[in-house]
Amino acid sequence: MAEFSFELNDDQKGVRDWIHGFAADVMRPAAAEWDEREETPWPIIQEAAKIGLYSLDFYAQQFFDPTGLGIPMAMEELFWGDAGIALSIVGTGLAAVGVLANGTDEQIGTWIPQMYGDADDVKVAAFCSSEPDAGSDVAAMRTRAVYDQAKDEWVLNGTKTWATNGGIANVHVVVAVVDPELGSKGHASFIIPPNTPGLSQGQKFKKHGIRASHTAEVVLEDVRVPGHCLLGGKEKLDERLARARERSAKGGERVKNAAMATFEASRPAVGAQAVGVARAAYEVALDYATTREQFGRPIIDNQGVAFQLADMRTRIDAARLLVYRASWMAANNKPFTSAEGSMSKLFAGETAKKVTAQAIQILGGNGFTREYPVERMHRDAAIFTIFEGTSEIQRLVIARTLSGVHVR
Ligand SMILES: Cc1cc2nc3c(=O)[nH]c(=O)nc-3n(C[C@H](O)[C@H](O)[C@H](O)COP(=O)(O)OP(=O)(O)OC[C@H]3O[C@@H](n4cnc5c(N)ncnc54)[C@H](O)[C@@H]3O)c2cc1C
Repeated sequence: MAEFSFELNDDQKGVRDWIHGFAADVMRPAAAEWDEREETPWPIIQEAAKIGLYSLDFYAQQFFDPTGLGIPMAMEELFWGDAGIALSIVGTGLAAVGVLANGTDEQIGTWIPQMYGDADDVKVAAFCSSEPDAGSDVAAMRTRAVYDQAKDEWVLNGTKTWATNGGIANVHVVVAVVDPELGSKGHASFIIPPNTPGLSQGQKFKKHGIRASHTAEVVLEDVRVPGHCLLGGKEKLDERLARARERSAKGGERVKNAAMATFEASRPAVGAQAVGVARAAYEVALDYATTREQFGRPIIDNQGVAFQLADMRTRIDAARLLVYRASWMAANNKPFTSAEGSMSKLFAGETAKKVTAQAIQILGGNGFTREYPVERMHRDAAIFTIFEGTSEIQRLVIARTLSGVHVR
């Protein structure tokens, strides 16, 4: 087991500084433009791929860092650069984690490289779980996957929504119902390979924030995929379903489903993204407060401003510590007995929203304009209390875990 330390080691510091350089020199100058364009910033993803920052190798290296701090450190720096562009760069990771969490070694080796493509021909991937009537309530999912034994193929039908990179992805990972009797325990994840007939993009959403990241519906009409596209394989699925049926016959002991396993692993990483946005806004506000003068002195001379900055920084540091704790626990196979992963995402998400609002206040009228980046950061921050489980759902998970009561 790795020793726990709050200090990044020299390798991690080197990687952090390298990502910070990309965030400062490439992402920041392009942030306002791609926010206005509301399009996937392909040239920037390509730049990231050229230096190895958008690649399976880089992601795997951080994912398997035994301290657990590789991913949160990378996320914080990228989202410090710009949240919309950063989500376009890391969105593929959610689909990759879906395969890592549920796939066989062969599936991991076959599909994850195709999610990233290569520096000359970059690709992205999408993880599609949410549906119009199944957001927080994952068990209400309707997309159906039916096995055609004669052809050893799965046939998928349904509509997914809110999919990051949905419809523009090379590889889609789709969660679908294989046994409707079992609720969320009857779900399984499927790879939809490139150019599979029947998969199309529905509505592309015009959003409040993270506008450089593509979010769309994904429509599945008689989509046929080979049997080997079921993540984990048929044998494992049949065993899991048989166990779930047995448990449900005995009165419903809880088991984790495929989508939940993916979300559990990714929550602290999303918390780290929120920390990055909060830190970016705090730095702008601190700089502004020390240079802007009113009543003949810098506005930071007033406790009303300085104390806000003190609170902002305290919250950001507390959020990062919660994220680091949860990431370290995940990397060292410590069970989240107090829902520490959800805690980190909840606190960091709320922090990003609060701190970016305070930053606008400290910048006064300038904070309210697009001449300064804090209004964009505030719009971007709003996502962190919504996706990967809303703040209310994080509280539900934490309360249930702490009390053992099925709080509703
Ligand atoms: C930009 C963006 C990108 C996304 N990317 C992806 C993606 O790549 N893949 C994917 O599968 N999904 C993605 N999502 C979907 C996201 O995870 C969902 O939006 C989220 O889970 C909430 O679902 P919902 O929007 O249907 O809200 P709802 O579930 O309808 O919730 C509406 C409100 O009711 C509250 N609420 C619901 N149930 C309860 C309860 N039991 N107790 C208390 N309050 C409750 C919620 O907290 C929320 O405030 C994305 C969403 C956005 C906006």
